Amino acid sequence: MVSALCPLPIRKGVAMQKKRVVLSFPPHLIDQAVTYKLIKDYDLMINIMRARITPKEQGRLVLEITGKRAALEAGIDYLKEVGVEIQPLAQDVKWHEDRCTHCTACISICPTKALDVDRKQMAVSFKRDKCIACELCIPACPYQAVEILF
Ligand code: SF4
Ligand code: SF4
Repeated sequence: MVSALCPLPIRKGVAMQKKRVVLSFPPHLIDQAVTYKLIKDYDLMINIMRARITPKEQGRLVLEITGKRAALEAGIDYLKEVGVEIQPLAQDVKWHEDRCTHCTACISICPTKALDVDRKQMAVSFKRDKCIACELCIPACPYQAVEILF
């Protein structure tokens, strides 16, 4: 399952959506123009956030993909059809509970309440299914309790 789409401001009457995903390429797809096809054929905007590609081995890319909802879904279907594994970047977000001091510095910064606090117990918790991998909490945490593993 890919993470929930993040709504962006409506431009020219069309709501744009954004996803941050990790793509894993099998060796035979590494030199194919897969991301170019997303731009050209599906009218998507692609921002390559991280890349780890070794010739003749599996490659991994972290992409931010922006476009109309239908185009995004079609582009993701295309990736799956050609054999690219796709997963939400949030799967690579790791909250180190043992490092967290429950200082709450991240709570007002996290836009989705993936990091949340139980005010009675003053205990912070992380809910991966709400995380959109925006990375805002990473510089905000003084104890490096949140990490992107990619
Ligand atoms: S990356 Fe951090 S700030 Fe962003 S949604 Fe996930 S937990 Fe919240
Ligand atoms: S900022 Fe870091 S240490 Fe403080 S509550 Fe958030 S995750 Fe825990």
